[in-house]
Order: sequence, then C-alpha cells, then structure tokens
Amino acid sequence: MVVGAGFAGYQATRVLRRRLRGRARITLLNPTDYFLYLPLLPQVAAGLLEPRRVTVSLTGTLPGVRFVLGEAGRIDLESRTVHYTGPEGLGGELPYDRLVLAVGSVNKLLPVPGVTEHAHGFRGMPEALYFRDHVIRQMELAAQGTDDPALRAARRTFVVVGAGYTGTEVAAHGVMLTGALDRRVPARWILLDIADRVLPELDRRLSVTADRVLRRRGVDIRTGTSVKEATGDGVLLDDGESVPTRTLIWCVGVRPDPLVSELGLAVERGRLLVGPDLRVPGHPEVYACGDAEAVPDLTRPGALTPMTAQHAARQGKLAGRNLAASLGYGTARPYKHHDLGFAVDLGGVQAAANPVGVPLSGATAGAVTRGYHLAAMPGNRVRVGADWLLDAVLPRQGVQLGLVRSWSVPIDSSAPEQARVPGSPASDTES
Ligand SMILES: Cc1cc2nc3c(=O)[nH]c(=O)nc-3n(C[C@H](O)[C@H](O)[C@H](O)COP(=O)(O)OP(=O)(O)OC[C@H]3O[C@@H](n4cnc5c(N)ncnc54)[C@H](O)[C@@H]3O)c2cc1C
Repeated sequence: MVVGAGFAGYQATRVLRRRLRGRARITLLNPTDYFLYLPLLPQVAAGLLEPRRVTVSLTGTLPGVRFVLGEAGRIDLESRTVHYTGPEGLGGELPYDRLVLAVGSVNKLLPVPGVTEHAHGFRGMPEALYFRDHVIRQMELAAQGTDDPALRAARRTFVVVGAGYTGTEVAAHGVMLTGALDRRVPARWILLDIADRVLPELDRRLSVTADRVLRRRGVDIRTGTSVKEATGDGVLLDDGESVPTRTLIWCVGVRPDPLVSELGLAVERGRLLVGPDLRVPGHPEVYACGDAEAVPDLTRPGALTPMTAQHAARQGKLAGRNLAASLGYGTARPYKHHDLGFAVDLGGVQAAANPVGVPLSGATAGAVTRGYHLAAMPGNRVRVGADWLLDAVLPRQGVQLGLVRSWSVPIDSSAPEQARVPGSPASDTES
C-alpha cells in the first residue's frame, strides 16, 4: 500500500508495479486522481500553462494498481491498517503487509497576526487557480476606475512573502501576468524575505541572476524584511511601513505533513526518521520517503536530504525497489544521491540554474530549465511544450473562471472543515 501520490509515492508505485509484475496487490491512496508536477504550478497561476498540463492521471498511467481516492486520517501500525476518508465523507480501512508513506508537506505557518485569515499559500492546484483569478480580478476592478484611488492602488499591489524558489517564481511569473493584462494600469509587485537575498537557500549566483531579472521587471524586492501583521486592507511590515493590498501570497516554506508526527514515532523537525534504506526503525514493513521524511544524506554525513522534488522522486524509486526486494524481487540499496543543482524558471526566456554546479543565466538557463522539466515530468510533455510555444506567439488569455473561492483555499490546509466555509474568518465576501 502506498499513501500519497506526489513525487515520492508516484515513483514508488511505478517501480513496484514494474518489479512485482502482478505478483502482489498494490493499492495507492491519494486525495486527487492525479500526480501534480508542482514545479510548474507558478506557470499555471500565471496563465502560461493550462491546469491539466501539470497533472498526470494515476489510473491512466498506473494500470493494474488499485487506486483509492481519499485521505489517510490515521495509521494503525500495530494492526497494519490505514484509516481513510473519501471525497464525499465516507471512508474505510485499508489493510497492508507493506506500507510506503509519502504524504509530502503542507504550508508552513508563522505566528504572525492576521496571516491565517488574510493570506493564501501556494501549495496545490486550487491555490494556483485562485491566484490566477484573483490577480486578474484585482486588475480588472482597478481598471474600471470606480473605486477611490487608494483602493485602486491597493488592488494593483501584490505582496509575496518568502523569496525561496516558490515565492521568486510566483513573483516573476505574476509580474508577467499583470503586464500581459493591461499595461495602462501598472501593477506593483513586492517580494519580501527576512533573509538578505532572494533564493537564500540556493547558490548565491542564482540569487544574483534572479534579483537582476526581477528588479528589471519592476519587482520591488525587500530583503531583511518580514510581515508584522496582515489585515483585510493590507500588511504591516516589520520596518513599520504599511502596504495597502488585497493580495498576500504566503510562500515562506513548507512543513512536513502533520500525519507523520501523529504516528508516535521518532521525528526530526516534524519529519519522520528513516534509515538509509528508507525503512522506519522498529517497523521493517514500513518505508517512508519524500518531504515528510528525515532521510540521512550519505553525501553530507550528519545532514538530512533537502525537501525537493529531486530527492523525493529518487527516494520514491528506491522505496519501491527496496520494498520489492523485501518480497524477494531484486536487491535493496541505501539512499545516496549527489545533488544535481537547481533550476528556477523566471518566465519568458529567463531562468537561473546551476546544473551539476555550473551557474547559468539568461536564455541558456531558460532552455536548460524547461528541458529539465520536460525530462522530469512523467507525462504530458507534448502538451506542456505546445503551451510554451503558443505562449511565445499568442497573447495570454486574461479571463477569470471564478471556480475556486477564497474560503476553499485556506492557508492552513490541515484546519478543521468549519474554518473553510463561507462566512468563517478565513473567507472573504468578494469571491
Ligand atoms: C510551487 C512549488 C514549486 C516547487 N518547485 C520545485 C523545483 O523547481 N524543484 C524541486 O526540486 N522542488 C520543487 N518544489 C518542491 C517539491 O515539489 C517537493 O519537494 C516535492 O513535491 C516533494 O515530494 P513528495 O512526494 O514528498 O510530496 P508531494 O509531491 O507534496 O506529494 C504528497 C502527496 O501526498 C498526498 N497526501 C497528503 N496527505 C495525504 C493523506 N493524509 N493521505 C493520502 N495522501 C496524502 C498529497 O495529496 C500529494 O499527492 C516545489 C514546490 C512547490 C510547492
């Protein structure tokens, strides 16, 4: 049984399917019927890629695997049972002989007043769709000219908190989206981070490239700055400046899915501790991999592998291989992977990348980054490539579909259901 079909769970299932060839029953539990290629989500939010391009059908690409649509709520390691809830509230129990846990991560929250109520995260498809509609709506309302000038200025101001790869890409693509909508109504994008540079966790040379590209597009980058309070009218920065805005995108990072810390097993910073073979100590029948797991990095003794797709996908493959080995098919191996570098797509032909440690910028980095994504995606490559080509020659479609409401994309996705309905503090009236 595999719980979670992200980078780690999807690859684990794929490898298990191939290695076991029908000699064991494989069940995959996931809340959506698709694998989501998260690194291209900012491009969905900016209207560059259609949403389905970054999804890969689970049933379509994993024939022979029993797929269960639902979310694991409790895992009983003694009776070897996963309790889950389906999309319509009904649930059940799924027994297992071997388990792969790959539930990934959720938005990281900081104790800043007002953020839970007024900010939105950027961690899944609903958030990307909400972002696209919301930004277009703010620009359209500002252009109508019926609001007072202060409100119009607030609508045209977009604040992204956190200049890691997610926040940097969201701001880079966001400013291109608003530029494509209506150049007569200029938007103001602010990207802020408590660190002293954008992309603080990556090679400094990537930071320099991203900083240059974003500033050239007019993004107001504030380093060494954070949010003190968020309200419905704007944000108060820790340097005392008040920024009127209707848009606060919270990209301060992720934390492991709380499901793993509820297991009562050893965790480190919320990540479930596993051995180099990806087995959970004391439970040789349980494998765990991806963002939610603390996997020792054998290339940097004493460190844990970072929470990236690069590691999650490879750990997933190895978990599948080692699990198959435990059933007598193949041999087990420890997890060891030398980081291959990082690629940050900045929109247009721009990117900042350091494949195998070689820093690249400009169009070369752009081509390498997009080539990398096409190679890394487990499906839909032709459609993604076609969207990129179309975007290069046709104007972007700036229309709202209004399908995702503000209250349905709470920043705390682990919040109870009642916090997610209209009329609750986490809702807003305009959408
Ligand atoms: C916008 C964005 C851009 C990114 N860009 C990059 C990048 O360019 N390069 C890079 O290396 N990394 C990038 N990352 C990070 C990367 O996406 C993650 O490290 C990676 O997705 C981790 O894989 P995972 O399988 O552990 O988790 P996920 O891919 O998050 O998958 C977890 C899966 O488990 C499911 N799940 C969660 N809870 C339950 C439950 N209770 N029951 C059943 N299923 C559950 C989820 O629905 C999901 O399908 C990005 C992340 C984001 C958000």
